Amino acid sequence: MPRSVPVQDTAPPLRFLIIDDNRSDAYLVRQCLDEAFTKRPPQLEHAATIDEAMSRLDGSRYDLLLIDFRLGADDGISLLRRIRARGIGTPAIFLTGYGNEEIVAQALKAGVDDYVPKGAENLPRLPDAVRHTLARFEQRRALEEAERRYRMLYEAAPVGVFQTAKDGTVLGANPAALQILGCQDLRALLGLNSRDFYADPKDRKRWMEVMESEGAVQGMEARCRRLDGQIIWARVSALAIRDGAGRLVSFEGTLEDITPRMEAEEALRRSEARKTSILDAALDAIITIDAAGRITEFNPAAERMLGYGRTEALGRELAELIIPPAFRAGHREGLARYLATSEPRILGRRIEMTAIRRDGSEFPVELAITRVPGDGPVQFTGFMRDQSERRQAEDALRRSEEQLRSSQKMEAVGRLAGGVAHDFNNLLTVIQGHSELLLARLRSDDPIRKEIEQIRKAGERAAGLTRQLLAFSRRQVLQARVLDLNEVVADMEKMLRRLIGEDIDLITRLGPRIAHVKADPGQLEQVIMNLAVNARDAMPEGGRLIIETADTTLDEKFCRAHPPTHPGPYVMLALTDTGSGMAPETLSYLFEPFFTTKEKGKGTGLGLATVYGIVKQSDGYVWVESEPGKGSSFRIYLPPVEGPAQTVEPKTGGSGVDTGSETILLVEDEPVVRELARRILEMNGYNVLEAGDVGEARRLCGTHPEPIHLLVTDVVMPVMSGRGLADALSSLRPEMRVLYMSGYTDDAIVRHGILLEGVPFLQKPFTPQRLAAKVREVLDLPRD
Ligand code: ADP
Ligand code: MG
Repeated sequence: MPRSVPVQDTAPPLRFLIIDDNRSDAYLVRQCLDEAFTKRPPQLEHAATIDEAMSRLDGSRYDLLLIDFRLGADDGISLLRRIRARGIGTPAIFLTGYGNEEIVAQALKAGVDDYVPKGAENLPRLPDAVRHTLARFEQRRALEEAERRYRMLYEAAPVGVFQTAKDGTVLGANPAALQILGCQDLRALLGLNSRDFYADPKDRKRWMEVMESEGAVQGMEARCRRLDGQIIWARVSALAIRDGAGRLVSFEGTLEDITPRMEAEEALRRSEARKTSILDAALDAIITIDAAGRITEFNPAAERMLGYGRTEALGRELAELIIPPAFRAGHREGLARYLATSEPRILGRRIEMTAIRRDGSEFPVELAITRVPGDGPVQFTGFMRDQSERRQAEDALRRSEEQLRSSQKMEAVGRLAGGVAHDFNNLLTVIQGHSELLLARLRSDDPIRKEIEQIRKAGERAAGLTRQLLAFSRRQVLQARVLDLNEVVADMEKMLRRLIGEDIDLITRLGPRIAHVKADPGQLEQVIMNLAVNARDAMPEGGRLIIETADTTLDEKFCRAHPPTHPGPYVMLALTDTGSGMAPETLSYLFEPFFTTKEKGKGTGLGLATVYGIVKQSDGYVWVESEPGKGSSFRIYLPPVEGPAQTVEPKTGGSGVDTGSETILLVEDEPVVRELARRILEMNGYNVLEAGDVGEARRLCGTHPEPIHLLVTDVVMPVMSGRGLADALSSLRPEMRVLYMSGYTDDAIVRHGILLEGVPFLQKPFTPQRLAAKVREVLDLPRD
């Protein structure tokens, strides 16, 4: 029994067209098929002539043609050719009475799908032939459909697809590939070698090697040169296609233009590189942290500033690494608050804080924080600047301003003190002089003597005070010499030991062969003594006093921190004690006259004022370092001078005889002083010519008929100084000697307060004996 074709019931019936001029044959065919396809009987139509067949085919679609070979004058083969020529691909089965092989071959060539010989014995084969033909046709159609779809994909795919021969010659490429390669027409590409598209020969080599070893290349990224010369980045994959025997036939591959991606990556790389170079070159420490406060970026400036290497710092918590313990909690809290509220209080502001270096040292920094922009995880970048130097500069400036203010103050106080001392010296000369004169006249048992002696003693004490005031005001007449500080100290050592007592160790550390200085030795002794006395007072329980001398150099840095010092070589004299030390407040008033912390009667507050004045007048500096409980160190820096030390001239006038009969011209603008001096000189036998001013002195010089042996003159006078006067008179009286008297100097007479060396000078206030002795001394000087 014929089998049925399994088809769906809902499908429309199949339409067959039988083309046969023999009606009975057609009938037999119909009968045979009707019997075979009972489940889904095909709809059978019949055409007896070629024309009829053609017109039916024009009007309808058939699923199968059953064509008799003999069709009257024509044959089925030419009919089929006509049908196929019209583009009708309906499958066809030939029915033929002749088993002629040649005809069969011709028919197959013309596009017939199968053939069945005619005759009752062959007809039963027909249903199977029909089934096979229909099935084969269906298969072919499906294949064609798949191929059509694939082609569509191939044409429309955004990815380039290409085929090459085994030597790389291009065999095909889809439109996307053409476009990627900058090519309008496939023909321009055919025959070119695909491997020549690699812009870099190294990539070409790499391609060959990978293909060789793996038979495929997966996503190789390389620069390619398009047909128009443009260079692009491409991603290429390919597969080697082999035949059944494993022989390489061709390559099949895909091609993508990844230039935009590569350019974006390149731009990103460049921007990263730029960022890195900025981070590297920045002078500020730049540190980025994440939301947990951990360091994610740490530039070279940060490395230098904080002492940590980058790799060491990355991943560490910022607070733990560079924030002093006292501020850590605050930092963490601030960060947490920001994250919770996004409150931008800390952003964009200058924050002053303290940071800590790896070595534990803390230093001030200025900080600005920004939040790293973008949608990524929260990050903050801090720009940190070391403020130590600025702070130091500010401190130095403040110190030098303070110093300037204090030196202006000292200057003003000094002028006042100097002025007072000048007038006082004249008055004290009179008080003391007259006391002495009175005492000389009274008998030793005279009851009034006691009172006068009290006056004289008070005068002496007042004279001591004015001397100190003058020293402080730097208007003291210094008798400076080139001297060796070591000698001065050595000469004083015994006396100092007595002065400070047994409970205090005196240690001297004298620098070997230190440079000489120019100073008044007596004044220098005064300086050392005042400092030693203070040291003693600061060590009531005993201690140690070290006196040092040394050559030293003050450098720029020291001088900036210690205004108004100037850099250069100096000879240093230092007295360091282990006493009570001083509070900053005491230090700030230290050198002012009458500043004392000692109880009434114990201190005058003039000791350091005197030291200050003497040192200043000698072009030196005095600096003190002290802290409460840590002792004090006073350092004096004096400029070094050339030349050998000058020894003290032996005192002349040791004769004990202060009298004489020579003629003396006495010039003094202060009448009470002049009067006193005249009386003293006359009492000692001299002939005195008295002048209250320069004019009078000149006149006397011109008119006095006898020789004038000595001019005794005050240094500071109105109109002309004593020095000017002496110079003026020396032409009139070349033989006349000169003795200057003064309690006071200023720059007009003496340079830097130091009287010219070897010029006779009498310090006011003077006693009658001192005046008489000095006059005699000058008159007795050997003539040169
Ligand atoms: P006086 O010694 O008369 O008080 P000074 O001018 O010599 O005056 O000293 C002023 C003040 O400076 C002293 O009262 C004392 O407070 C302080 N002082 C000076 N030298 C020292 C020292 N070596 N140690 C501690 N304090 C000192
Ligand atoms: Mg003192």
